[in-house]
Amino acid sequence: MQLHFLGTGAGMPSKDRNTSALALKLLEERGSIWLFDCGEATQHQILHTTIKPRKIDKIFITHLHGDHILGLPGFLSSRSFLGGEDTLTIYGPKGLEQWIDMTLKLSKTHVTYPIDFVEVQEGIVFEDAQFIVRAMPLQHVIECFGYRIEQKPLPGELLIEKAQQLGVPKGPLLGQLKAGHNVTLEDGTVVSSKDVTNPPQPGFVVTILGDTKFCENAVVLAQHADVVVHEATFDHGTIELAAQYGHATNTEAAQVARQANAKNLILNHISARFLAKDLIPFLDEAAQIFSSVYLANDHSEFEWRQHTLNEI
Ligand SMILES: [Zn+2]
Ligand SMILES: [Zn+2]
Repeated sequence: MQLHFLGTGAGMPSKDRNTSALALKLLEERGSIWLFDCGEATQHQILHTTIKPRKIDKIFITHLHGDHILGLPGFLSSRSFLGGEDTLTIYGPKGLEQWIDMTLKLSKTHVTYPIDFVEVQEGIVFEDAQFIVRAMPLQHVIECFGYRIEQKPLPGELLIEKAQQLGVPKGPLLGQLKAGHNVTLEDGTVVSSKDVTNPPQPGFVVTILGDTKFCENAVVLAQHADVVVHEATFDHGTIELAAQYGHATNTEAAQVARQANAKNLILNHISARFLAKDLIPFLDEAAQIFSSVYLANDHSEFEWRQHTLNEI
């Protein structure tokens, strides 16, 4: 799993930061990419990456503020030009479908692929054999959601020698054992999967939160997460402004990660008021509360491998 931050600014673009968009790259896991928010010019940001728009098969929108959705019409249109044929599913708050439908209709934009809309409410918004995605409302000035993406446990490694010692022949029975099924051999012996596999490995948990002030649901969504992406529009010195505008500070984001016993925190949605020279103290302030903290810049990339987060 990799995270590629396409836009990390707050409210409006600056020279250094585009507005919100984050690609969750699941290429090894399922050959696809999920996009979280799509601020204006997200497609331009994608041009500087190896991301292929047709590989993006799900877009999760946290809320309907312009800095999180204004890139959608352009992205949807380009995905069509670039040969996207597979269904795109868009998850988001009430009103998103209406806005996209109207925009595409009035601009006579024809897309070559089906779009499915899922109106997000609290609870499970997506589940298949590999992943489960849950949403909970946060506390912003309009309806806004946070998402918790859980990878289901991965089958334990198959101990081939052990299976062969028990008489399992090469072939499909080995695959069934690896998948967790017990098998019966020709002579009637039953071989149990757990005797010839290592225990299942836990999957990863990534929590991606939309704009919010410090809130309890953020802590719930981030519970024991491997990676939490939290907005940090303000710093501790501007904490009163944060609450007033429905946003959080670097230190509040760190409190969320700490209370949730999360493993890693990435600060995102950074106000243009913070200049390059301010970013080290900005990060240090959060690190005093939660040490495993990173700051996302446009095109920051992180990789989750062997239960460890690395910035790449
Ligand atoms: Zn925002
Ligand atoms: Zn907002």
